[in-house]
Amino acid sequence: MTLSGKTAIITGSNSGIGLGVAWELARAGADVVLNSFTDRDEDHALAEEIAAETGTKARYIKADMSKGAECRALVEQAGACDILVNNAGIQHVAGIDEFPAEKWDAIIAINMSSAFHTTAVALPMMRAAGWGRVINIASAHGLTASPFKSAYVAAKHGIVGLTKVTALETAEEPITANAICPGYVLTPLVEAQIPDTMKKYGMDRETAIKEVMLTRQPSKEFATTEQIGGTAVFLASDAAAQITGTTISVDGGWTAL
Ligand code: NAD
Repeated sequence: MTLSGKTAIITGSNSGIGLGVAWELARAGADVVLNSFTDRDEDHALAEEIAAETGTKARYIKADMSKGAECRALVEQAGACDILVNNAGIQHVAGIDEFPAEKWDAIIAINMSSAFHTTAVALPMMRAAGWGRVINIASAHGLTASPFKSAYVAAKHGIVGLTKVTALETAEEPITANAICPGYVLTPLVEAQIPDTMKKYGMDRETAIKEVMLTRQPSKEFATTEQIGGTAVFLASDAAAQITGTTISVDGGWTAL
């Protein structure tokens, strides 16, 4: 299966899941546009590495997904958008009564509203090209809740709702919109939490992961960024042409509990 000739924009893709999705889409032949809010040599080097290894065109475009105008400018600057992966996201953990209002605003802006802005610019491009895929990276928290994550859970439920509306507005066109709902994924950020958890609970790595970090993930295994990327490649494939307006959980059984 090849995505050659398609251009994919992946928001928030200089690390973690976004970078994993960019790699898998490029391995499937798509030209990829990486993004984050920084403009460092290492950001551009990531795109160069993908281009060199996969033989696709890969670029890095700086844009701050907390700002609607920059979200729109990212898609415009890319010049083409056959596959849009809305992935940028941040987290903050606190009770509602103590949750800083500016953190709430930032999480809603980056994790949810950015997808509205990028989709608004991408859909006319997809319509002109006669093909398109919108893939929103939601979360198990788009389908279930946890305490102390009010903004994150609200934003992730919101992006699942936006996914459904996008699907209905494009239902009669060769465009689909779906959300991937990962459980706990082993990203550099999560990897960095493992030593602290081991220390705090006096556990070895294996026990800290299975008994503390993955209490809600019945498989007791992290999902990988390659698996999330592979799911995005599937959603971009012809086999998924009639899958639209839905969620695909990659969560080791979390939402089955
Ligand atoms: P991460 O911190 O490695 O990646 C987040 C990405 O978003 C980074 O590239 C970061 O630079 C970018 N970003 C943050 N603020 C931005 C901004 N203002 N503008 C542009 N880019 C910005 O974390 P991750 O785990 O890879 O998370 C990626 C997505 O996956 C998020 O939406 C997250 O909610 C979701 N998710 C993660 C997990 C998990 O266990 N890691 C589980 C479910 C869902």
